[in-house]
Amino acid sequence: MKQSEMLGRLVENAIGFLSHSIEALETAPKFSVIDFYAAVELFLKARLLREHWSLVVAKNPDWERFLAGDFVSVSFDEACTRLDKVVRSSIPSRARDKFDAVRLHRNKMVHFFHAGEDSQHRVIEDIAIEQLHAWYELHQLLLQQWKEVFEPWQKELAGIERQLQSHKKYLAARFDALKPKLDEIAAGGQSVCSCTFCNFAAAVMVAGDISGLHDGNCLVCGAANMWLSMECPDCGKNAILYDGCDFSCECGYSPDERGLVEALDETVVTKDNYFDNPYPANCGECEGWHTVVSREGKNFCVVCLDVADELSYCGFCAEASTGSLEDSYLVGCGQCDGSAGWHARKDD
Ligand SMILES: [Zn+2]
Ligand SMILES: [Zn+2]
Ligand SMILES: [Zn+2]
Ligand SMILES: [Zn+2]
Repeated sequence: MKQSEMLGRLVENAIGFLSHSIEALETAPKFSVIDFYAAVELFLKARLLREHWSLVVAKNPDWERFLAGDFVSVSFDEACTRLDKVVRSSIPSRARDKFDAVRLHRNKMVHFFHAGEDSQHRVIEDIAIEQLHAWYELHQLLLQQWKEVFEPWQKELAGIERQLQSHKKYLAARFDALKPKLDEIAAGGQSVCSCTFCNFAAAVMVAGDISGLHDGNCLVCGAANMWLSMECPDCGKNAILYDGCDFSCECGYSPDERGLVEALDETVVTKDNYFDNPYPANCGECEGWHTVVSREGKNFCVVCLDVADELSYCGFCAEASTGSLEDSYLVGCGQCDGSAGWHARKDD
């Protein structure tokens, strides 16, 4: 059997597990969780297999034994590490968090699950919402970042998307239940906005760490909502910047990362700081390169909207970045592999 044939079977199995998981939600929630997680793992393994079959095997890869199915496959954490370090196409941290939530839920279900009659409904609602979140991230990975690999299954993946629409009724049910509480919050003067993930007006917002930044969680689906109200660099009217460089202005202007850095950076470059001006710096939160600007004396990432008080300098490449750079001389930063990586490359 060829590697491409194996990839095909792996992806078809992953899609089969997903489909079964969605069908089983109401009748067998435990198996829905187990199958959904199995599908997530299979997609990650499929991406590894596409790079090289040996990446799917935990240790001592052996082709004959691999073909016979006689091997221990990589764990979730190890798969994520290999996707990052070997395939060089890492899973964004937000996606990883959602997959991890499904994984932990699966472990709990497998070992301890016992549904009492009255909690069953709540359990199903939680699972439905968790799967919607995980699917959103998985779908992005499969059809954007890993498009080249998974494009042949576009039709099947669209089928899963359609099938999952039925999960959305659980969001509506939760919204209805929460409506009195949300009305009370709004009456108390706090702003309740439409959630960027589920679209229900259930995101309770508070002011963020710089002016114009709004931050809050959705009470219906739990999604973190964040956006910056800013002046549109093109028409000067009020516009909104969501995370991921998603810019919305009625004039239709859509700046890229560079355009946003230019519009939002308040650093004044003079001949005295021309050479040691650290902005734009790198982001330790989303690993963005030169996406952090200076705004109101704080460090603001125009891509993930993270606000950090301080910058640190990588001990190896000397680039400025937010987040922790402990041991950076050895292990590097988001942009370099440090001295250990440098020596490893030299030894090749
Ligand atoms: Zn929501
Ligand atoms: Zn505009
Ligand atoms: Zn960032
Ligand atoms: Zn570095």
